[in-house]
Amino acid sequence: MIPVAGTGSLGRMGPASRPVERFAFGGPWGALGLTLGLPLAVCYLSACLLDQGGALFLPASGAEWLALLPRPTWTAAALFAGWLGLQVLLQLGLPGRVVQGQPLEDGSRLAYRMNGLLAFAVTLGLALGAVALGWLPASLYRDQYRPLLACALLFAFAYSGYLYWHGLRHGRGERRTGHPLHDFFLGASLNPRTGGFDHKLFCEARPGLMLWVLGDLSLAAAQLERHGELSTPMLLVCAFQLLYVADYYLHEEAILTTWDIKHENFGFMLAFGDLVWVPFTYTFQALYLVEHAHELPWWGTAGIALLNAAGYLVFRGANRQKHRLRTRPGALVWGKKPEVLETARGTPLLVSGFWGLARHANYLGDLMMAVAWSLPCLFAHVTPWFYPIYFTLLLVLRERRDHATCREKYGADWERYCARVRWRIVPFVY
Ligand code: NDP
Repeated sequence: MIPVAGTGSLGRMGPASRPVERFAFGGPWGALGLTLGLPLAVCYLSACLLDQGGALFLPASGAEWLALLPRPTWTAAALFAGWLGLQVLLQLGLPGRVVQGQPLEDGSRLAYRMNGLLAFAVTLGLALGAVALGWLPASLYRDQYRPLLACALLFAFAYSGYLYWHGLRHGRGERRTGHPLHDFFLGASLNPRTGGFDHKLFCEARPGLMLWVLGDLSLAAAQLERHGELSTPMLLVCAFQLLYVADYYLHEEAILTTWDIKHENFGFMLAFGDLVWVPFTYTFQALYLVEHAHELPWWGTAGIALLNAAGYLVFRGANRQKHRLRTRPGALVWGKKPEVLETARGTPLLVSGFWGLARHANYLGDLMMAVAWSLPCLFAHVTPWFYPIYFTLLLVLRERRDHATCREKYGADWERYCARVRWRIVPFVY
């Protein structure tokens, strides 16, 4: 899934310390449960939004449960394949600055071409052009949601099988447990590449993220078709999420120092997250608002916009402070010389600015934005609140895994750091 801002310690660090492999997510059976359970969760929740106006429901029979599974169509398969093909062509063909990734265990670095912003602009231009010329209906995402979801799911399973095979064959001995269920889920190699094509960066950053934004815009068009006007909540949700993704591309290079790129193998968990979870569940608020075209009082709109802006400032500010520490160590933090804790590993830990308030203030900012994206949907149903609920779980888990990794990397220095910066994510709360 998308770690949308990293720390950017290009050039100064020693080889990235990779965590020792151990079973995660409850071992092989936990991995199997998630491999099957997560796709079913998407099918069920999207059915709530598409068929029940956002209400949760209990299918009455086995046949009704089975009916939740979406079916692929040739049209959707062609659309999905065309979409992936376009994004591959844009990643490979568009010009962009080539930057070196973080040092790998053997000290080498991989080169990445950063052309995401241009690819995003071209994609938006092509999509708007195709709609304006009448080649594609504006509400395509809503109309084709189920068959597209089916194609994306089938592709995610098949592709993860390929990644597993590729990892066993070409991997550099990255941490694997040797248990197929677990390694299929968490991945069998860190940076699978075919020629110069980097599978992980592509999936993390391109088709899913862009389909999320196009999905939102298409759902806004569906609301316009249905109700004859666009509601303020729909405008807020589309604007917030468009800005979030655009901001990712503006700071694209920062992804190279995120947890996903540095530490996470590329398997079903990330491939499914990138290709199915992001483009088909991050649109839930907009999907909900197609049917619910309510309005907000001006003070509600202003409050939500303020919360999103505050969240953005915390999120981007925290990520930027850490990025600067790694790339321009003397840069001021909140107008003062940064306070750092020197470590035996050689990479200092920031203990002032946002990083003096909590060990992952960047997560806090992201969570504030997540709440701001669901508030416009109000409180009648829980499904449009899916994103902040799941995201809280994700970030709490992620912080725990990062904490364990950092304890391994930094040893006693990490304990000193934790004693100094006590809070994990939310100052005075958690
Ligand atoms: P971070 O960017 O917080 O990276 C964690 C790493 O930063 C640690 O492993 C450590 O690595 C370094 N670090 C930790 N503390 C300090 C410190 N005090 N000073 C300097 N370096 C420190 O984590 P993520 O990659 O998980 O998240 C990046 C962003 O992506 C976050 O804002 C998150 O909210 C967002 N995100 C969004 C998702 C989405 O779906 N929308 C999904 C996941 C993440 P080292 O010491 O080796 O540099």
